[in-house]
Amino acid sequence: MTTTLPAYDEVVARFEPVIGLETHVELGTNTKMWCGCPTDFGGEPNTRVCPVCLGLPGSLPVANKAAIEATIRIGLALNCSIAEWCRFARKNYFYPDMPKNFQISQYDEPLCFDGYLDVEVNGEMVRIGIERVHLEEDTGKTLHVGGATGRIHGATESLVDYNRAGIPLVEIVTKPIPGTGALAPEVARAYVAELRDVIRSLGVSDVRMEEGSLRCDVNTSLNRPGEEWGTRTETKNVNSLRSVERAVRSEMLRQASVLEAGGRITQETRHFHEDTGDTTSGRSKETATDYRYFPEPDLVPLAPDTAWVAELKAALPELPRLRRKRIQQDWGLSDLDMQSVVNAGAVELIEATVAAGATPAAARKWWLGELSRRANETGVELADVGATPAQVAELQGLVDAGKLNDKLARTVLEGVVAGEGSPTEIMTNRNLEVVSDTGALTAAVDEAIAANPDVADKIRSGKVAAAGALVGAVMKTTRGQADAKTVRELILARLGA
Ligand SMILES: [Zn+2]
Repeated sequence: MTTTLPAYDEVVARFEPVIGLETHVELGTNTKMWCGCPTDFGGEPNTRVCPVCLGLPGSLPVANKAAIEATIRIGLALNCSIAEWCRFARKNYFYPDMPKNFQISQYDEPLCFDGYLDVEVNGEMVRIGIERVHLEEDTGKTLHVGGATGRIHGATESLVDYNRAGIPLVEIVTKPIPGTGALAPEVARAYVAELRDVIRSLGVSDVRMEEGSLRCDVNTSLNRPGEEWGTRTETKNVNSLRSVERAVRSEMLRQASVLEAGGRITQETRHFHEDTGDTTSGRSKETATDYRYFPEPDLVPLAPDTAWVAELKAALPELPRLRRKRIQQDWGLSDLDMQSVVNAGAVELIEATVAAGATPAAARKWWLGELSRRANETGVELADVGATPAQVAELQGLVDAGKLNDKLARTVLEGVVAGEGSPTEIMTNRNLEVVSDTGALTAAVDEAIAANPDVADKIRSGKVAAAGALVGAVMKTTRGQADAKTVRELILARLGA
């Protein structure tokens, strides 16, 4: 539909973007929002359901206190005001994954409102206004089968799984964010990353984008300088940090090409495509009247006790931004080094590795080196790479004890990532321990001397530097397992140098 896209630099020279983000977070409560069904991810389809979350006639919802508490804590961490009195609302729409044919949500009376979150972008602080934080319930999941793409087009059947229906869902909506210019994509990404860290620090959700427990919709509009804000589009379910950035950027480029050609932007939902990095038109956006909101008659209003809210506020954990500053000082990192740790998503991992006994430098080396490389190669988040902080600390302990050298440690780490067990188990099972026992090494040393008589002569005549070649030969026959220092000492002793 679109022809050649304009260059990004030209777009930001001619247009000003306004972005906005709506983020849905599945809470990690033990039970669902209105019933006692369990909430864990996975499980056979339609096994975690009951009359309430299946919306059967005559069933009545009861609000989950833990979910309300978690939502208030999120609101407080985002500097929001907490409503002294508010209600749930019925949002009416028909969709097969919504068993009740309406969703219990909040409308004009959100539980938390008018807050902000400070995020750092390229060393500068950007304050993102938070419009509201409200509580609702998740829908089920529709699976389209029989087609090649998993989409409804080409599918032979559509199946519905209601295990997720009724899981408490918190929606966090930013105020419109103008004035970010060329940095709009980065600001969007930094906001979602910071929000994720804040929510994780509260321990109320595992905020895994790839499992859908944190989902993001991105609003984008463009206007010419001095003009009113443009019509915005909403790109749905963007499910990685990188995609958040790409979605804003590609939507800016697309809208600019439409506007430059004299066209108009349609207010609509758009779908982001991970493979191509662009968006395609979805449905035209419903307005609030389409949903026919009204106060939920089956639930009593919510009136959080102010003393309770004050207690929750006082008990909030140290927030990630402040914690990062403290950690940076403790670890003695430069701004740039700290930034690379943050960008790699390694702060908590390194912290936990240090807590398990490694030095900050060693922990950082493994997580930012070998493990980051692996995570990039396999396209997973660092936390899901397959090694735990305790295992990394154990690995480093084996290096410090002289049982593994750097090369062997990397081999052991591969085994850890492959799920072969703990570093000590892998070292033992695969016989990877450094051999420093002189008895075991003498034979290999003698063999190397016999095989390289000219090198041996040089060493005998005082050219000690030549010993390196023999050390190399021994390392080769021992598959890198010999302790190089011991080997060198043995060679020199054997040759009387
Ligand atoms: Zn249920």
